[in-house]
Amino acid sequence: MIAKSIEKMLSENQEHFLIPAEIVANVQENNFLDHALLVLTKVHYAKIPVLDNDYKFKGLLSLSMITETMLGLDELDVSRLHEVRVKDVMETDIPTIQDPYDIENVLHLLVDHPFLSVVSSEGSFTGIVTRRELMKSMNHIAHEFEKEYIVQNIETKENK
Ligand code: AMP
Repeated sequence: MIAKSIEKMLSENQEHFLIPAEIVANVQENNFLDHALLVLTKVHYAKIPVLDNDYKFKGLLSLSMITETMLGLDELDVSRLHEVRVKDVMETDIPTIQDPYDIENVLHLLVDHPFLSVVSSEGSFTGIVTRRELMKSMNHIAHEFEKEYIVQNIETKENK
């Protein structure tokens, strides 16, 4: 259980740590890997969401999933990239969160995942929550906390 005061301040800031779907780089599950490689290279992200034609969230694709597909016995086989589709190699066993999301769950999940995809109850992709945006909110709270709350040290019983 996280402190209610921290949870409240983070919840008030929720909209700030969501990066909306419109500005999240993505690939379609039916794209071939050569196209996906171009997208990933251009956006400079190591991993991005995979969507279907209806903007439903399907999984994640990383550069290493693409390069592994090219690995032959002694050389890289680039021609494979036009035969294999994103849906054949993407990662699907990953947690997603729903808006409004449970802050405590988000904090736990971001320990192991650099970002979390936000998906509606119908499966539509609405954006991502990243470690960076959450750290910005935590930074804000660290600066503002004592302007909103009186903090008492339990050991010394002194008001700080
Ligand atoms: P950050 O916390 O900003 O370093 O972002 C963590 C990860 O989230 C990045 O490495 C990307 O995989 C993903 N990410 C962040 N912003 C975007 C974006 N606009 N489009 C796609 N993926 C993103």
